[in-house]
Amino acid sequence: MSLLYTKYKIFHYTDKINSLPETSNEILAPIHVRIKPTNICNHRCRYCAYRKDNLQLGQDMAIRDTIPCAKMLEIVDDLSEMGVKAITFSGGGDPLCYPDIIPTLKRLMETSIQFATLTNGARLQGEIAELFAHYGTWIRISMDGWDDASYKYYRRAGANEYSKIINNMREFKKLDGKCYLGVSLIIDNYNHDKIFDSIQRLSDIGVDSVKISPCIISNKGKENNEYHKPLFKQVKRDIQRARQKFETQNFQIYDAYHELDDKFNKPYEWCPYQQILPVIGADLNVYPCQDKAYNLKASLGSIAQKRFTDFWFEKKKRFFYIKPSKECSHHCVANEKNQIILEYLDADKEHICFV
Ligand code: SF4
Repeated sequence: MSLLYTKYKIFHYTDKINSLPETSNEILAPIHVRIKPTNICNHRCRYCAYRKDNLQLGQDMAIRDTIPCAKMLEIVDDLSEMGVKAITFSGGGDPLCYPDIIPTLKRLMETSIQFATLTNGARLQGEIAELFAHYGTWIRISMDGWDDASYKYYRRAGANEYSKIINNMREFKKLDGKCYLGVSLIIDNYNHDKIFDSIQRLSDIGVDSVKISPCIISNKGKENNEYHKPLFKQVKRDIQRARQKFETQNFQIYDAYHELDDKFNKPYEWCPYQQILPVIGADLNVYPCQDKAYNLKASLGSIAQKRFTDFWFEKKKRFFYIKPSKECSHHCVANEKNQIILEYLDADKEHICFV
């Protein structure tokens, strides 16, 4: 099977890479846009980065913000016209709680944009499930608990919520669509010894993959590493055991439970990724990335009173206000990708042919 998770996808878009530096006169459309349709959520996860006071993510988020339907359709039309290739819906809240998700998906189906969503899976039923199954590219369901009681502890959701979501996934696979169904297992010190059993259950119901990621508990890499250090050995061993037992051509296990330092330190002065994968918040601010979402100081500007197309092509210098070495010492999912792009762009042009 070819690689779903790789840092090098962007090298299929070399025109875009070459347009990124401030010295280039060009602004090209983003390749991929994340949209947060609503901040409303039907779960209250204990570790939710958007609601925790000690994490910078979501610090300026208003819980009730939701993109009005007409504005959402305008955004979809703009992204389609600009040639954006993909949209991922994510939180703030749960994207499937967005009251206008069905008209949004139907409008997207009229475009060539591929779409995906992160969700807790509680509303992956009925018409929403049908539309995603047959027209979506992927869905990733976040999980932590391993049964109804533990799931309730994590999410402060209904007593049978875990069983319901497991059932939603099983039924989703029966729809036999082309949409890839993945699960993201978030690991902390409460569930770290349940990984093997959780993966077995997910393999049994027919999901396509499981990605194992560490719960982020602090803005500092060192504190995250200290928290995960006592769990590390067992987590790695159980992932390895699960891989040997359950992995097949149709069921993949991705180990993203790594040391976190490489997501925190940023030895560079501008951020390429914000022109590649920006985020539109439910507050209609455009943010440079997922890790700066709802941090108003980092907002690239608002599209409440203007179209996204006009906003995007207005001025190049807005993509260079943030100095990552000073302002992004927190978790950053694009850190390694940024460094790879910057090294590529930095190659000495006189010597470029000596490959
Ligand atoms: S360096 Fe990372 S955290 Fe900072 S703006 Fe870029 S993608 Fe976001």
